[in-house]
Amino acid sequence: MKQPTMSTSWQRILVPLDFSDDSITALQRARDLAETHDSNLVLLHVVEPAFQGLRIQTEASHSEAERMAQQKFQGVMNDYLSALQDRVSVEVRDGRPGDAICRAAEDLNADLICIATHGISAIRHFMLGSVAEKVVRHAPCSVLLVR
Ligand code: ADP
Repeated sequence: MKQPTMSTSWQRILVPLDFSDDSITALQRARDLAETHDSNLVLLHVVEPAFQGLRIQTEASHSEAERMAQQKFQGVMNDYLSALQDRVSVEVRDGRPGDAICRAAEDLNADLICIATHGISAIRHFMLGSVAEKVVRHAPCSVLLVR
């Protein structure tokens, strides 16, 4: 696991997106930080293994999910990040979102994960959604939780 450092510069900010309104709010906070700190942004969407009855989702439906994520990234880039385009990259990974986000932060040497407290399931009576909670508990770097 990456050792914590005393660095306070946010060179690479990881922004996990489920494309919910909350995740877009977190993206806007990350964009503001990136503008102030000259950071690079990595947008990450994780495609979960879905169970349909007893069948795990097929390769075709999985690549369809990846294709849709790439399309949504394009929309997000156009709508929110046109001023930063050369400093933004996107990734689609497979797995359980909390685990995959923490692994990506480690692989990519991210200084900060900027993530919303809630997402697509919008169950508001929990203080944190399950993905956000997992990231706060297990991230190898600082986490900015955006309400
Ligand atoms: P909720 O239970 O309210 O949906 P989550 O903890 O799942 O809350 O979501 C919190 C945030 O985690 C989302 O706004 C999003 O930024 C991130 N997130 C959730 N699922 C994914 C995913 N599959 N890929 C990338 N980021 C995700």
